[in-house]
Amino acid sequence: MIIGLTGTLGAGKGTVVEILKKKGFQHYSVRKFLIEEIEKRRLEVSRENMVLVANQLRKMNSPSYIVEKLYEKAEQETENIIIESIRTIGEADKIKEKGGILMAVDANPEIRYSRILIRQSETDNVSFEEFLGEEKREMFSINPNEQNLSGCIIKADFILENNKTIEQLEKQVDEIIGKLTRKKQIIGKRKDYISWDEYFMAVAVVSSMRSKDPNSQVGACIVNKKNHIIATGYNGFPIGCNDDSLPWNREGKKLETKYPYVVHAEANAITNATGKLDKCRIYVPLFPCNECAKLIIQSGIKEVIYLSDKYKETDEVIVAKKMFNMSGVKLRQYLPENKTLTLDFCKLL
Ligand code: ZN
Repeated sequence: MIIGLTGTLGAGKGTVVEILKKKGFQHYSVRKFLIEEIEKRRLEVSRENMVLVANQLRKMNSPSYIVEKLYEKAEQETENIIIESIRTIGEADKIKEKGGILMAVDANPEIRYSRILIRQSETDNVSFEEFLGEEKREMFSINPNEQNLSGCIIKADFILENNKTIEQLEKQVDEIIGKLTRKKQIIGKRKDYISWDEYFMAVAVVSSMRSKDPNSQVGACIVNKKNHIIATGYNGFPIGCNDDSLPWNREGKKLETKYPYVVHAEANAITNATGKLDKCRIYVPLFPCNECAKLIIQSGIKEVIYLSDKYKETDEVIVAKKMFNMSGVKLRQYLPENKTLTLDFCKLL
């Protein structure tokens, strides 16, 4: 379950977060994200700079940029998520688009001001008039990249009123969570889905099955930072070179063997790529040879994930490792979570 939390200044978003954390929700904070961003830019951590930097980021990317970044992070780690706080219409819509619940918390201005005085964090050091002025700036904007708290509150599925005690707030949260749990009966996601590593290594292995080489079949799968596959390949002769006319022998005179003709899986994948290879990673069932290592390095690929290193004593692999290390390409042996993966087409008929 994803809950996006919105609300006015000092309404008690932090308290709602604490209540939900007790119920097992993981907290992802826009504020923390922005403070890190402000510090990166060597600016003073103030509410004004937080609004400024947030609006800039949204303008440069999209109205829901920050929430999307947090969501991406959250998605990999946990199931029940609270994202705090939602401030633009784009962010509110994104939460709903992802199937999440938008929750708002509000309280009377005097109560909220007295709360922020007690809190006195680095961004809350203001008079009542300044407090109202700042709030006004954040309450409404026709620009989708700017803060629009009133618009977010209107879009909320649930509004919590926090004029009284924490216990009363907690009761309201309990009721909402109870209602949602009953309504959805929250069906958890499958637990036995394959991991990214397993998935891409499997694609590399399946690619190898296309190889016509009677002795060794190798595949490769290149993946970008977004976990999108941008290339696959397997060992074979160059395009237009007939598989039946050239030799597949491993031994004999050089010209009678496959070696001068065959293109390795990694080289095929690199030349087939449909996107930029820069900062990508390559999955290979077998550790690459020195020739492929050169291509991998030159293409900008930054990580090699391999299954077998059975030729580690050979000059080709020793040289490959030396070059990978010198050029900063990360090497990682993939240790399979499952020994086998079965593809049973008949089961799908
Ligand atoms: Zn090679």
